[in-house]
Amino acid sequence: MKFSESFIFTARQDPKVAECRSHKLLLKGCFLFMVSSGIYSYLPLAWRVLDKINSIIRRNMNSCGAQELLMSALQPIEMWRKTGRDKDLAEVMFRFSDRKERELCLGPTHEEEITEIARRYLVSYKQLPCVLYQIQTKFRDEPRPRFGLMRSCEFIMKDAYSFDADEEGLDKNYEKMLYAYKKIFAECGLDFVMVEADSGAMGGSLSHEFMVPSGIGEDVLLKCGKCGKYYKDAGECPRCREKLTPEKNIEIGHIFKLGTKYSLAQQGLFLDETGERKPFIMGCYGIGVSRILSAIAEVSSDEKGIIWPRKVSPFDVSLIVLGEDLKEDAFRVEEELNSRGYSVLVDERNEAAGVKFNDAYLIGNPYILIMGKKYKESGKIDVEIRKDRKKLSFSKEEVISFIEDEYAG
Ligand SMILES: [Zn+2]
Repeated sequence: MKFSESFIFTARQDPKVAECRSHKLLLKGCFLFMVSSGIYSYLPLAWRVLDKINSIIRRNMNSCGAQELLMSALQPIEMWRKTGRDKDLAEVMFRFSDRKERELCLGPTHEEEITEIARRYLVSYKQLPCVLYQIQTKFRDEPRPRFGLMRSCEFIMKDAYSFDADEEGLDKNYEKMLYAYKKIFAECGLDFVMVEADSGAMGGSLSHEFMVPSGIGEDVLLKCGKCGKYYKDAGECPRCREKLTPEKNIEIGHIFKLGTKYSLAQQGLFLDETGERKPFIMGCYGIGVSRILSAIAEVSSDEKGIIWPRKVSPFDVSLIVLGEDLKEDAFRVEEELNSRGYSVLVDERNEAAGVKFNDAYLIGNPYILIMGKKYKESGKIDVEIRKDRKKLSFSKEEVISFIEDEYAG
């Protein structure tokens, strides 16, 4: 894609509203548009990243045997009264009535709705286990929106729900999900920690949280300086007896063994082998999709901009062209890379070299190719690796295989 034709309009100045590094860089780099406090639009650059994150999530969910659906964001309050969560979540729910006086909310989560779906269709043990998931917008009436996408009123989540006939089935699904979560976050290039946690308003017996140590955020974990383990709450490290120090984190995922809380309250029953009616044993599994975007921008960035991990970067390669007479050659390099499946952002604008470099660093694609004076003299293309600013030099043919090798590894 040609930079001059793209919807990328970076800012020179730091935005005044920014509350942390990721918020600043995502606004400055033309990833996010702030509609109002706690409400954002994802601009084309951010959408490219989200699309890749979603693909990673879908692939891993599908390989667990989970099936994707999309539930309604508008939900009748009636459904929430069955579990009493119309009251438990009253503070964060966007609630209103339609013109027929029907009470509605914008779903902050979907346990109630998925249980309604399951009880309608899953009537026999023969249909179990069953795992369903969606990637959808959720809403929270957030009193203090903060840190951009990290604490916002509208956000994208992946939520999955498992239905089993017995506890052993739930254990199996929970293990599968836990394994898939580790793979998903690793593919997104995140260093994360996993801790056992409270089930809170979800209910149930066991839950695990996935956190990104970030120095910001509102989730505090206690870290052992000796073994590096994290705890939700302990006196000292139970292993080393070392004193623990608090560290701020961003929560990116949370999985729960729900048990029968929802199936009992909503009459989610199936017939077992002996013909007896039994409640589903449920689990739920959430990932903060838009939060992953923020978390990466927060922890994988430097003073110049974001450093996107390879699998989620907006483009695979930035190509800076310095010289009107080199454009045709640059487009040929782009074509070569495109034909091999790599996306390229070609900066062919009539801008100073400094402006182009600043934008390339800010946008944060993992590889920056430079065609300038050296290319004219010796046919060499310079390559800068965004992560460590390491510089290399290749011929046109070599540069293609270099990119191929990098993405294969
Ligand atoms: Zn320890």
